[in-house]
Amino acid sequence: MSNVEKTIEALLLHNREWAADRVKLDPEYFKRLSSLQTPKFLWVGCSDSRVPANQITGTDPGEIFVHRNVANLVVHTDINMLSVLEYALTQLKVEHIIVCGHYGCGGVLAAMGRRSFGSVLNKWLRNIKDVYRLHEPELRACPDDESRARLLVEFNVREQVLNLAKTSVLQRAWKYEHRPTLHGWVYGLEDGLLRSLVTMQPGADLHPLYQYDNL
Ligand SMILES: [Zn+2]
Repeated sequence: MSNVEKTIEALLLHNREWAADRVKLDPEYFKRLSSLQTPKFLWVGCSDSRVPANQITGTDPGEIFVHRNVANLVVHTDINMLSVLEYALTQLKVEHIIVCGHYGCGGVLAAMGRRSFGSVLNKWLRNIKDVYRLHEPELRACPDDESRARLLVEFNVREQVLNLAKTSVLQRAWKYEHRPTLHGWVYGLEDGLLRSLVTMQPGADLHPLYQYDNL
């Protein structure tokens, strides 16, 4: 059955089959999961339905703490993302945070154009326009729109990794617990492969203006 033909009832039906299959394989599966959540990874990804964190990394429920939004942004005024980040750092004590973008990202493509998508979405996409402006010479040098869009996807991932490093909650974890490592990845819709763009180890170099010295 294709995605287009799936009904809402089919989702619930599939859920029953899935839950029964899991118990058949491992009778304690849900009992164990419901009593303990200790993921080592926080995933900050795009809401795009084609980039499901668990499937593409071969991880099971319980292994990745996930936050997804349009174009995998880390916005300092986004209380949703900041709550996820704070919980992941101070309670779950994650060891790695992955920001994962993807080529062909609709949010990034929209930000490259001048079309208005409504006042809320415009504000969100403006964060990506700012990334474009920061790297305008390199982006303008691209031979065509497709390569320019791919490069902006990559710059956007790098910028969001930096945005994580700018937060005081992250810097505190780096200073006192020497974790987590930050990773910027990009996913190819056309080949299903993840590529590593950037890694920041605890205490990595950051513009001094963003470093808090009284944490
Ligand atoms: Zn996307």
